[in-house]
Amino acid sequence: MKRIHFIWMAMVAILLLTQPAGASKVVVLGFDGADAQLVEQMLAQGKLPHLAKLREAGTFQPLMPTNPPQTPVSWSAFATGLNPGRTEIFDFLKRREGTYIPMFNAGEESSEPLLWGERNPLYLALIAAAAGLLLPLLLLALLKRWKAGVVVGVVLGAALGAGMYWFAGRYLPEEVPVAQNNRKGDTFWGLASQAGKKVQVLRVPVTFPAEEVHGTFFAGLGVPDIRGRIGTPSFYTSRLDRIEGENEFSIEVIRVDNTQDRIETAIYGPLNQLFFRPEDEEERYRLEEAGVPERIDVPMTLSIDPASQKLRLEVQGQNVTLGVGEWTPWIHMRFAFNDVISVRGMTRFKLLSLEPELNLYQYPVNLDPDNAMFFTKNPITWPRGWLQDLYGRLGPFKTIGWEEDTWTITTGLVDEAFFEEDINFTVADASRLMESLLQEGDFDLYVQVFSFTDRVGHIIWRLTDPENPTYDPARAERYAGLMEQSYVQMDEIVGKAMAVIQNQPDTLLMICSDHGFTSYRRGVNYNTWLVKNGFMTLRGQGSTATLEKLFDTGDLFNNVDWSRTQAYAMGLGPIYINLAGREPQGIVSPGREYEEVRDAIIAGLESYVDEQTGARPVKRVYKREEMYPQFNLDVIPDLRAANDLYYRVSWQTTLGGVPAEIMEDNYKVWGADHCSVDPSLVRGIFFANRKFTRTDPHIMDLMPTILEALGVQVPAGLDGKVIS
Ligand SMILES: [Zn+2]
Repeated sequence: MKRIHFIWMAMVAILLLTQPAGASKVVVLGFDGADAQLVEQMLAQGKLPHLAKLREAGTFQPLMPTNPPQTPVSWSAFATGLNPGRTEIFDFLKRREGTYIPMFNAGEESSEPLLWGERNPLYLALIAAAAGLLLPLLLLALLKRWKAGVVVGVVLGAALGAGMYWFAGRYLPEEVPVAQNNRKGDTFWGLASQAGKKVQVLRVPVTFPAEEVHGTFFAGLGVPDIRGRIGTPSFYTSRLDRIEGENEFSIEVIRVDNTQDRIETAIYGPLNQLFFRPEDEEERYRLEEAGVPERIDVPMTLSIDPASQKLRLEVQGQNVTLGVGEWTPWIHMRFAFNDVISVRGMTRFKLLSLEPELNLYQYPVNLDPDNAMFFTKNPITWPRGWLQDLYGRLGPFKTIGWEEDTWTITTGLVDEAFFEEDINFTVADASRLMESLLQEGDFDLYVQVFSFTDRVGHIIWRLTDPENPTYDPARAERYAGLMEQSYVQMDEIVGKAMAVIQNQPDTLLMICSDHGFTSYRRGVNYNTWLVKNGFMTLRGQGSTATLEKLFDTGDLFNNVDWSRTQAYAMGLGPIYINLAGREPQGIVSPGREYEEVRDAIIAGLESYVDEQTGARPVKRVYKREEMYPQFNLDVIPDLRAANDLYYRVSWQTTLGGVPAEIMEDNYKVWGADHCSVDPSLVRGIFFANRKFTRTDPHIMDLMPTILEALGVQVPAGLDGKVIS
């Protein structure tokens, strides 16, 4: 009797061990930039019925974002339960080590030798020659015909060796580009995978290249377009007043002559980093002479039929006829570096007008799922072939990380109605993907982030703020409703997820966002403030920065006199002290002087008043040790200026420019933001279908909370704490 009792207890113990108390399936849906205040307001008005249900039966709380409340920063803390000082994803930009030159913080592109790099022709030729020699030798030796074997072997070996030497020299690049994610720390999906849980992770920002998990993974923000950019649409136009080339909004304007019947033009592709890599002018000339293209394009022919008012597009044997206002389906194309190496892309076009001017829009060329060669080093899904499986089942969808085109509307070439169309495509694709995978249910942990809520905020929120400099009553009348419409779309997606899991009482559903929003009315030029207050000294006049300067030449602070500069601003709020021993031309001594300079900047900026409005643009300047208990001393900025509502770091400061005035109106369509605002003012959201009673949750708390719900051990030493 006792013995049976013991066995029974042992069985219970084993069950408890393998199936911890909290173990359940977890579904996490993230909505980038979904703002707590607007959500609360819409809940009160009964406009978000599914989220209201979650609030009633479970939890709704505003969610504190990271400092700064930026998309890559906050989602990295979400993934790891670590503060930005430890993930080292702390801003849009960081300094290149040992310089004043800015670079992207979240990820970078490097290159790796392909096989043996520049020795490829020699080594491959030797291998081919050896194979050519040995095969006939062995074969004919078996037939006891040694002499013939040697003769045939030498001839074949020499021929194969020479052929391979020529082939490798001509067709194989020495190096191939490789993407790198700079985020540090262990992710909850990684830990869950290690604990044997099956995970599905989709489109979380800062997850490119795709991570190897037990389950499936689809990388998010960071996946480039075919040109290696965050996104470059093209605009084909016959208008002469449009300047050809790439403008500051990262859109390519391509002039076409609509007086011709057949217009020969091209779809712009990637820079030829594989074969066009001149180290000097002489080599550049040699490459140009040899006809090696600097950029790989795909030819496209446009023909106008005035009678039917249609435009015909011909791209690599595909023909599509378009009326005004129509979109093409996805068109697939191959950008060939040579006969052997190519990368495949896909895009869609919309014909905006045909007469009197031809205006044709082209979406950024997305990486096609059929790209085995590129994905070997830069996978966007795990397993690498999963993307093709999804395409087979669901049809084509965008693969680019920044899915929505926020660039073209910013140029004034298209309006909000066009932006809305693009948002609706994106929402439909992402929601179809979610429904299909949730229904399949092949996971213990499901995570998907939707980005449209953030993009609509950046472009449309301004139309809900009559005090925004770009506010236009007529435009607001037509389009301000898109802001709430995007939150209704979010609510519908949540409703679809709830419908799928309604019969699974054990499944924990969490809805969250990484930050909220505020109207961006006025910008602060911190470098100008530093100059006017004696912390920075210029040689000659201040400068205007451009994107080209920022990323192509890095020639930003070229007129700063570093021997008389104590501090400089770079990125969306960071201020760095020109510290001796750390900065290349540092003058501020560590210790007392460092603290004095920091305190003086804090006092000055926090009391600074915007004369036009009478408000204080800077709510608080944080010392780094106030934001982060642990951080890398050489990487994390010494100070971070956090704005009050309606203010942001100016466009020029973001790029490192020093314009004449400290304050400026924001006249851009990008009229709302969050990136440099104090985190307490732009909170995100946290909903769950279970009761969590702890107040003031932080986005870092989700990682340990998810692990505990899955029954996976929460690692020690996290900054986030389990929400109870
Ligand atoms: Zn944003």
